[in-house]
Amino acid sequence: MKDTSLYQQILGDTSPWHVAAVRLDAAAQTVEIEMALNGDELWGCPECGRKMRGHGSDRRKWRHLDSCQFKTFLVADVPRVICPDHGARTVKVPWSEPRGRFTALFERFAIDVLQACSTKQAAGLLRISWDEADGIKQRAVRRGLARRADEPVRRLCVDEKAVGRGQDYVTVVSSLDAGRARVLHMGDGRKRETLDVFWLGLGAERQEGVEAVAMDMWQPFWDSTVTHVPQGVEKIVHDPYHLATYMNKAVDQVRRSEHAALAYRQDDTLKGSRMLWLYGEENVPSKWVIRFRKLIENTRLKTAKAWAVKELWRDFWKSPDEDAAAATFKEWYREAMATRLEPVKKVARMFKAHLRNILTYFRLRISNGPAEAINSRISELVLQSCGYRNRERFKNDVFFYLGGLELYPAQ
Ligand SMILES: [Zn+2]
Repeated sequence: MKDTSLYQQILGDTSPWHVAAVRLDAAAQTVEIEMALNGDELWGCPECGRKMRGHGSDRRKWRHLDSCQFKTFLVADVPRVICPDHGARTVKVPWSEPRGRFTALFERFAIDVLQACSTKQAAGLLRISWDEADGIKQRAVRRGLARRADEPVRRLCVDEKAVGRGQDYVTVVSSLDAGRARVLHMGDGRKRETLDVFWLGLGAERQEGVEAVAMDMWQPFWDSTVTHVPQGVEKIVHDPYHLATYMNKAVDQVRRSEHAALAYRQDDTLKGSRMLWLYGEENVPSKWVIRFRKLIENTRLKTAKAWAVKELWRDFWKSPDEDAAAATFKEWYREAMATRLEPVKKVARMFKAHLRNILTYFRLRISNGPAEAINSRISELVLQSCGYRNRERFKNDVFFYLGGLELYPAQ
């Protein structure tokens, strides 16, 4: 059949194999490409490469890229060798990885599709099962991790993410080098030992090269970092992104108890205002501007006072340098304590206790953007899978989508 030369062209160099036949099954909508050997060969053991003669063969089949919407397969009788060290093995073929069920070209394409949509959607588009799609992702990550070089890491971000239900945490370490964020490491739990594993894995030389580590005010992470990173105390940054939620939470706590007190007196001033207080003054949606103005100008409202302190905290990050920031903090702290609102005071005290590693921001300027993007993407993944019940699948997905790995098969 003349199609053989066309498929040979598509497949490229497949020596010592060639396309021997192409069988089209119109009813089943499949195309089978039969591969045959050019001649007798000495084969290498797939493990150790030792050359030897073949002993029989195994009939194998690989899914290949579709031809005009027909599912397309490569089939071949793959020689078997009997290696004295590794036993009976089928030899490597140039179009697929050992034990692969897809050609490398198909797997490459599948990885692109999987990167672009959910596993379920990708499986549908590729006409493979969900398990097969997941298998492609797992192999891709294994490949990528094995290829990863021990390059230096300078700017890092440490986070904890709740994965399953309840207090089920994973510690995520990302690199922020080269203007992009990628996940370097994940560990179960959020203990000091969890992060120790990462630092120890880096080795002394790369520990030395670390310049900045952004993290939340979580003592176990702090302890681990100062233990393993030389001058770690100078390099830890409690950055704007990690601290942003504390003031929002404090405002919300104040609002809740104030609303309850007002509602008791049939006063619904704060009713339905929860979301409003999360906005900065400049980006309140226009339909709420009038109500919002009224609320923040109401000097009797405790919630308005708490909100003002929150807004002031946002200004803190605009300080030009460490000294200016230290001065601004003093003012802010005074304002916060003057509210005499316990949730606000609590946050102020906590920030003060960690001030040293908040001020480092103005020297190290570790940028939040990339880490924020990684974090929200992880949250999306968790949501998409309804909270991973399988921890390994979670990690695999994070590496697949956010590891910045070289995922393609070698061919
Ligand atoms: Zn061998």
